[in-house]
Amino acid sequence: MAEFTMELNDEQKEVRDWLHGFAADVIRPAAAEWDEREETPWPVIQEAAKVGIYSLDFYAQQYFDPTGLGIPMAMEELFWGDAGIALSIVGTGLAAVGVLANGTEEQIGTWIPQMYGDANDVKVAAFCSSEPDAGSDVASMRTRAVYDEAKDEWVLNGTKTWATNGGIAGVHVVVAVVDPELGSKGHASFIVPPGTAGLSQGQKFKKHGIRASHTAEVVLEDVRVPGSCLLGGKEKLDERLARARERAKQGERVKNAAMATFEASRPAVGAMAVGTARAAYEVALDYARTREQFGRPIIDNQGVAFQLADMRTSIDAARLLVWRASWMAVNGKPFTAAEGSMSKLFASETAKKVTSQAIQILGGNGYTREYPVERMHRDAAIYTIFEGTSEIQRLVIARTLAGVPIR
Ligand SMILES: Cc1cc2nc3c(=O)[nH]c(=O)nc-3n(C[C@H](O)[C@H](O)[C@H](O)COP(=O)(O)OP(=O)(O)OC[C@H]3O[C@@H](n4cnc5c(N)ncnc54)[C@H](O)[C@@H]3O)c2cc1C
Repeated sequence: MAEFTMELNDEQKEVRDWLHGFAADVIRPAAAEWDEREETPWPVIQEAAKVGIYSLDFYAQQYFDPTGLGIPMAMEELFWGDAGIALSIVGTGLAAVGVLANGTEEQIGTWIPQMYGDANDVKVAAFCSSEPDAGSDVASMRTRAVYDEAKDEWVLNGTKTWATNGGIAGVHVVVAVVDPELGSKGHASFIVPPGTAGLSQGQKFKKHGIRASHTAEVVLEDVRVPGSCLLGGKEKLDERLARARERAKQGERVKNAAMATFEASRPAVGAMAVGTARAAYEVALDYARTREQFGRPIIDNQGVAFQLADMRTSIDAARLLVWRASWMAVNGKPFTAAEGSMSKLFASETAKKVTSQAIQILGGNGYTREYPVERMHRDAAIYTIFEGTSEIQRLVIARTLAGVPIR
């Protein structure tokens, strides 16, 4: 187990500086264009693939960093560059984590490389859980997976929504109901391989922010996948379902395994929010030092300087919560007070507030697309919504405080 540290080691600093260089030289200059185009920035993803940022190796190296700081550090730097483009770059990693967390070694080895493709032919992957009637309430999911024993195939039917890279992905990871009696305990995840018949893209959403990231519905009509596409395998699923049925029979309320997964993945979203908040803060600080009114820089007014002081303080506090939760996740510490949710809640609310303050500090300029803070503000609004809304984070935290099991 690695001791908790608030300092990056030399190797991590090197990686951070390298990522920062990419974010500053490649991502940030392209941000306004792809935001306007509302399209996946394939050339930027390809550039990231060429230098090794868009790759399984890079992601895995950060994911398994025993200090826990690899992923938050990487997310902060990339999202500092631009949230929409960065989500296009890391969206595949989020789907890959679904396979890393639940897949067998063989599934990991087969599917994750296909999710990324290679630098000459980059691919993206999608994680499809949300549905039109199952957002926060994951247990009400309706997409059904039925096992066809004769053919050793699973048949998937349903409609997924809000899928990042949905429809444009090669590999889709789809969560579906295998036993409707068991609520969220009756769900399983499936790989839908590239080009599988019956999977199609529904509407692509026109969004408020992170517009360079593709978000769409995914429609599944009699999608047949081989038995080997069930993540974790049939034997493990049958055992898990049998345990859940037994517990349901006994009326026992059990800890949802999904909680541990979400707690562990939420700090990464918190780190994205820290990146956006820091970007907006830096623009605002620079502006406040150089913009003069009444014969002096506006930062000489306490009303402006105090806002910047609050912004910086919140960003640092958010980062500390994110780093703590990431360290806990990597080192298998139990999230007894939902520390993962805490980090995501605080960091995402901070990003929303700080980007709004940045607009205020830039005055009229802050409200225009000549300056990046209005885009950052639009982008920041996503953090309090996806990977669990702020209300759901509070619900989870509150339940742990009340001693109620997380469902
Ligand atoms: C840009 C974008 C990308 C996304 N990417 C993905 C993806 O790749 N894969 C994927 O599976 N999903 C993805 N999502 C879906 C996202 O996780 C959901 O939007 C989110 O979980 C909220 O669900 P909902 O939109 O249905 O809102 P609802 O659940 O309908 O919530 C509406 C409002 O009610 C509140 N609310 C609901 N229940 C409670 C409660 N019990 N107590 C208090 N308040 C409550 C919510 O906090 C919210 O304010 C994405 C969403 C967006 C917008």
